[in-house]
Amino acid sequence: MPYAAEGDAAASKFDTPRKLEWAEFKWTESARCKEVKDPRLFFDGPETDLKRVILVWCDECPVKQACLEFAIRNKIWDGVWGGMMGRTRRRLAYRRDRTR
Ligand code: SF4
Repeated sequence: MPYAAEGDAAASKFDTPRKLEWAEFKWTESARCKEVKDPRLFFDGPETDLKRVILVWCDECPVKQACLEFAIRNKIWDGVWGGMMGRTRRRLAYRRDRTR
């Protein structure tokens, strides 16, 4: 249930998208993946393919941390962002939230 309706008893703060500001995308100028012709590489395919994407593109990316924080802050749980697959980011967000 990635985007639960407002008022849904099962909805959590992890499921509510927010409006994005243009300034929040500044880090994308240095993204290694900005030249990728087919962004579906980062979203589709079996887990082994996504892990390969992380190795090839994300591990040496200069904005990996910014990418990861952007995805978590904006509750983006699909695809590869910041060198992590969605469920890994979600677990990280959950752990962070519990330690606050
Ligand atoms: S960390 Fe990966 S998904 Fe994020 S900008 Fe870099 S290459 Fe792209």
